[in-house]
This record gives sequence, C-alpha cells and structure tokens, in this order.
Amino acid sequence: MELSNRPWRWEEGEYTVTRTLPWSGPGCHNQCGILVYSKGNTVVKIEGDPDIPFNEGRLCVRCLSLSKVVHSPYRLTHPLKRVGERGEDKWAKISWDEAYDLIEQNARKVQAEYGPEAITVLTGTGRNISHILAKLCYSAFGSPNMSPAFFSGVACYAPKLQLMLATFGGFIWADCSQMFPDRYDNPNWVPPKVMIIWGNNPVVSHPDSFMGYWIVECMKRGTRLIVIDPRLTWLASRAEVWLQLRPGTDPAIALGLINIIISEGLYDGEFVDKWTDGFDALRERASEYSPERVEEISWVPKEKLIKAARLYATSKPAAIQWGVAMEHHQAGMSTLLGVQDLWALTGNVDVPGGNIINRPGVDYANLPPFAWGIEDVPRDTLRNTIGYKEFPFYKGAQPDLMAEAMLTGKPYPIKMAWMQATNPLACTGADPKSAYQALRNCDFVVDVDLFMTPSAMACADLVLPAASVLERDSVRAEFVGGWWGPLRAVNKVVQIGECKSDEQILLEVGKRLNPESFPWDNVEQMLDWLIRDTGMTFSELRERCDPVYAPFHYRKYEEGLLRRDGQPGFRTSNGKFNLYVPAFEKIGIDHLPYYEEPFQSPVSTPELSEEYPLVLTTGARSWGFFHSEHRQIPQLREIDPDPEVEIHPDTAAEVGIEDGDWVWIENNYGRCKQRAKLTLTIDPRVVHAKHGWWYPVREGAEPSLFGVWDSNINQLLPSGYQGPSGYCAPYKSLICKVYRVSSKS
Ligand code: SF4
Repeated sequence: MELSNRPWRWEEGEYTVTRTLPWSGPGCHNQCGILVYSKGNTVVKIEGDPDIPFNEGRLCVRCLSLSKVVHSPYRLTHPLKRVGERGEDKWAKISWDEAYDLIEQNARKVQAEYGPEAITVLTGTGRNISHILAKLCYSAFGSPNMSPAFFSGVACYAPKLQLMLATFGGFIWADCSQMFPDRYDNPNWVPPKVMIIWGNNPVVSHPDSFMGYWIVECMKRGTRLIVIDPRLTWLASRAEVWLQLRPGTDPAIALGLINIIISEGLYDGEFVDKWTDGFDALRERASEYSPERVEEISWVPKEKLIKAARLYATSKPAAIQWGVAMEHHQAGMSTLLGVQDLWALTGNVDVPGGNIINRPGVDYANLPPFAWGIEDVPRDTLRNTIGYKEFPFYKGAQPDLMAEAMLTGKPYPIKMAWMQATNPLACTGADPKSAYQALRNCDFVVDVDLFMTPSAMACADLVLPAASVLERDSVRAEFVGGWWGPLRAVNKVVQIGECKSDEQILLEVGKRLNPESFPWDNVEQMLDWLIRDTGMTFSELRERCDPVYAPFHYRKYEEGLLRRDGQPGFRTSNGKFNLYVPAFEKIGIDHLPYYEEPFQSPVSTPELSEEYPLVLTTGARSWGFFHSEHRQIPQLREIDPDPEVEIHPDTAAEVGIEDGDWVWIENNYGRCKQRAKLTLTIDPRVVHAKHGWWYPVREGAEPSLFGVWDSNINQLLPSGYQGPSGYCAPYKSLICKVYRVSSKS
C-alpha cells in the first residue's frame, strides 16, 4: 500500500480527527494506526487508520474501547498521598509539587543512609516505559536496581532478547512482510510455505509488534500451519499438524525436531557449514531425543512429531512464530535455543518468508537497550546490582532475588520502591502474598498508574496519576530493537484531570534529583534529543505523520550489513550464528538445548502428584484484556465476565464439576477461585487457568483489595524457581487439583 501523506490532524464535521498510535498504556506492544475522533476534551470514538501498513485499518477490541478507558470514572486524576494506614484506602489529594517534595525527601534520605541501591524501580511490561524507567532508575535515583516487579525469571520476551543477542547478535521474527510499507505486494517478499506457531495464539494476543491477522493473510496466500500448543486454538484447528504437548515439555519437542531433521539429512548443509558454529555438538545432543523418547516425555505421538519435522524442514521458506509460553518454564532458555537452532539448521535465517533479522526504523545505537542512563551509575554500584554475582548472564536486577532482598534485607535492605506500569499483586508477580510483604517492608513506595490497583492500595504511600496514550506527546521509536516498528509520533488529544505523561514525570523527577542528567527544558526537547539521529525534531516527525521505514535487506549476513566492521557474518565474536550459547559455557551452564522435567510434575514429584494430579498451565490471553488491565471497562468485561479455568469434561465429571461452577484450583502453594469452563480442547490431564484477575469495582480497602486474593492464579506459583541463567520460570508448568466451591468456602 502507498503511504498517504495525510495530515496528523484535521476537522471532520463536528469532530477533530487525530492520527496517532497506542504506545502506550493501556494496550499492548503494538503500534496500530488509530484515528481518534474527539469533540473538545472528549474522545468520542476510535477507528483504525487504513493508511498505516502495520494494521491496515484493523483494530482489536482493546483499541476500539480506548475512549472508555480514557474517560473511565475509575481513572486516577490527582496525586494522592496516603493519610491512613497502608491498605485503609484513606488518601489526600496533593499537588504535583508536594508529591515531588515527598519523592525528593525520601529518595535523598535513602541515598544518604543506605546508598542509592536501596531504591528499586519496579517495572511492568515493556513499550515506552522500558527506556523511561531505566533513565529514572539510573540517572534520577542513581540505583542499578531496575527490576520487573516480582516477575519470576522475567519470563516474557526478555529471555529471548538476551539469548538472541548472545548467540547471533540480533533480533529475529517471522516474516509476514511487515518490514515493507507496501506489505504483501512487495516484490521481494514471499509468504512462508509453512509457519510453526509455537506457544502463542497471536490472533488473540497480537504479541510483541506482531499482529495475528498477518498469519491469516499468509494463510490466504498459501501458508500451511504447524501449531505446538497444549490447547486447541483457532489456529491449531486449522493446522496441518497440531502437536498437543504436555505443558513444560517444549525443549524435548525442539530437540526431537532437531534430531529428526539432522538424522534424516533434511537440514541445509550449505548454510550450516558456512554460517553456523556448534553443529556437531548439537547433533550429538539431539541424538539423545528419539521420537519415542520425546513421545514419552511430551505425550505427542511420534508420528506427528516426525510429520511436523519433515513438513517444516522440506518447505522453503518456513518461519517460526514463537510465543511467551516458551519462557514460562524453568528450562525455557533451552526451548528458545532449540527454536533458534531450527531456523539455522533449515537455512531460514533472514530469507524472504523465513525468520528475518529486523532492524529498527531508525538505528539508535546511542541508546542502549533497557539501559538509558546507565552511565550515571558508578561501576562499583553496578556490581552491587541484585543478582549480579549469582546470575552474570542476567541484565538488570534479577526479580526473584530482588523479592528475596526486599523480604530479608539480604544482601542489603531495599528501602524505597517506585512502581510504574505494573500491578504485581494482581498480574505477573509470582507468589503475590510475598510480594505484598516485600513492598510493605519498604519505608516509602510510589506507584504511577492510570487506575488505583490492588498493589497501590495495599502498599503505596504516594500514588501518581499517569496520562494514557491519548493524553500525551511521545515517539514510537525503536529504542530496544526487539519490538520492531517504524518511527512515528504519538499525539496528545485530551487532558484528563492532572494526569501527567511518563515522559513528563521522568523529566520532572530527574530535574529534582540529578539535573545534570536531565538538561531538557521540556518534554518536547527531550523527545527531540531522543530522535536526534533521524535528523528530525519531534514536531517535524509529527508533521510528517506517516511512519518512517528504513530500507530493509534480506540475507544481511552475506552483505556485511550486520557487523560493525562491515564484514559478512553475524554480529558475534566469531561472526557465526552460534547453535549454542557461548556465554553459558563461560559461566558453567549447559550451553546446548536440554530437557529437564518441571520442578513439579507427574514425573518429577509423583507423590505430590497423587494429591495434585492435574498439570496446570496458565495465562492464555483474552480478547479484551492485556494482562491485568481493563477489568473495569464494562464492554470488555462483557466479553470475559469471569476468570475461567478450562477443564476437560471427563476430568470435571470425576470430581462432580459442571460447566459454569465456581471451583477452587489448589496446590501446595495456595489456591484461587475461577469458573469452570468445560471444553474438549484441552487434554484431560491438564487444566488451563486465566491470569491477571482482580475486581476493580469491589471494595478497595483491606482485606478485599479489590478481590485480588480471590482469583489470582499466581498464588499457586512460588518465586525462586527461575532457570539457571536467572531467566524463565514455571508459570505454565505447575500441578494442581480442582474441586467445587462449597457453600462454606
Ligand atoms: S493489537 Fe489491539 S490493543 Fe494492540 S495496538 Fe493493535 S488494536 Fe491496539
């Protein structure tokens, strides 16, 4: 499609129409073009922008409901200072200046008495907040301890990013023509002949700058599917082969596929010989995983595994779209490594219709991923990062060890916490009752959000109202590299109460605490600085309006477009796409893919499994929610009114559960209540529970905390079972039992 050159704002009848994109909160990692129809200070409706190639006018229900989020009566609109006990729901409205005074006083006190590392910045999922909170942590507070809030093993995408950098020095994703503004018409692009959809359901989740409908567009152009998932998803129901594996056995599937492809000689010998390192060791390791052994481990019939391996390896080009589910097991790194090896073994690296190495719309080499401002933290202080010694491969403060430090004061006490874009008690935090205690142990807790959350209610001393994406100017730029997208301006439409943007809060707090590192007079100057390498200012980018695409080349390793020295090869010390993890060798971790039983399973803990006989997987996405967001938006709650646990009818019948019953899901760590959904789409030995549940319209004060302890499935998940590199954790490989909620419960 042609870019439109339409203006960024115009009048249309009674409406002002603004072109922008949701980057972000609320929402997701994507950058769909939206048209915001407003009247005065009111957003009336949202439509998809047909001139943006990323989504071609399509929107999911979350963006279509954005006006309801912006104008929700539950929005925070003023800074709030706690005046009762924590959790009592007693607050006083204060000015921003008073709020900043409190932050400055407390931060300086902690810095003076305990050192800057006693302050932690606790983050939620990525997007603009990734670089903003890094700068806040490193430059404003001078602390090295930025940490994903109680998110065990930061088991979502970060493991992939670190692994890819360590093995071939780039970021890869499935090629659905997204690098080209003319999309499916681009003459250099071809659709994948086969796509493996592994551990995700993109038509619902639209993960990490990847729109699910792109797969459907490829299917219309002939792409056939292999789906690897314990649940029969919409895509699985349309697949040539569906591998319904036991949750947590993904590394065995990867090794089984590799073994078949190598032993049957289906690999791309030319690519392997010329561009990879570690083939012999990988072949030897994979040979331990015969189809029979993989069937025994994974419950996947060997015939299906063999069919999938042959179909993938003999269809060129072929792509793998990988999901977060891979990282939700302790051995998640092994699965990720196995998938990377599959790309390379089949020669599907950076080829049209394969798995392509993205490059940003504009390169921002001057902004290190997740580490803007890290130069402001002295080396000695950096060496004090929580987890620095235990997990040298991990970048930042390791969340399981951070939880431990906050609970025990070891290796040193954490006295102040800044939470932003996160709701750990209700969302991705493992062992949320310990997280509650950990936050309560802090002397001063700040929370920044659109809404009052259980985490803020229970633990915060100061709550700051964040502007939503329609209330701020920003840039959607590729600061990290893993969420590829062309450069665009984010345009403010309305002002709600006294809400401030993430950028503005960062700048104002930074100027208070460390003005030398925040030399900008206003947010626009800061945005100008961030995109200075483009040669454009923010206002010029806004006027341009259409997304900025950089030229994209396939097979960049052949042309010397990946390495800093301009030589052919990959951006690694040996110039190769490594089939193992060189950094793991150095720190004594198994550097090849391997299979390890989940820490609790019918195999590893057979006695415990007598009491908890079902494998528990969690966290499949809902149409209307992003993690714990949106439960207070009526039209989205209508789609998913209750948390649901999927149970096979045979399993339900054994324990007297009927469709729609409220049931307890319980294991040795805790229990929660969800509504039974009986379905044939899941194995009788497995149940699947929804995550991120709380009830924003219920009582906020303790003990209710918006009902956060009722349905939060993470109460069944301990902290501290991260993988050996510090990454990945068993969110999707637990055990449990289910039983009806009795009238006494
Ligand atoms: S995937 Fe959905 S929520 Fe995300 S940006 Fe696109 S329309 Fe919005």
